[in-house]
Amino acid sequence: MEDCLFCKIAKGEIPSKKVYEDDKVYAFYDINPEAPIHFLVIPKEHIQSANDFNDNNINVISHIFKVINKLVVELNMADKGYRIINNCGEDGGQTVNHIHFHVLGGRSLQWPPG
Ligand code: 5GP
Ligand code: ZN
Repeated sequence: MEDCLFCKIAKGEIPSKKVYEDDKVYAFYDINPEAPIHFLVIPKEHIQSANDFNDNNINVISHIFKVINKLVVELNMADKGYRIINNCGEDGGQTVNHIHFHVLGGRSLQWPPG
């Protein structure tokens, strides 16, 4: 989608610190990390938010979780633990309208969030 920040990042039109890439997803470090390790995983296809999954695009979710499963092992987060977050819409605190899953770790995280 034109004028979407994360579509541009996925295409390499805007630079980012890549963690992983394949034909379906792109993972990169958050520019404003909230934990010692904080990366985002996005589908390359533009999906605005969790409200926009349907029978045609829902399979990317299992792929994203499979990729996260691999990356947390590579980044040595798997044993200590980590958090996967999706913010949806205004009340959910979503600021970029291309769905993304935050993965945070490297410290003990508080609960509940604000
Ligand atoms: P949200 O608030 O929508 O759940 O999360 C958006 C995230 O994207 C934020 O954590 C923010 O720091 C990150 N972000 C926003 N713009 C950029 C950017 O240009 N590059 C990178 N790497 N992260 C970004
Ligand atoms: Zn997009």
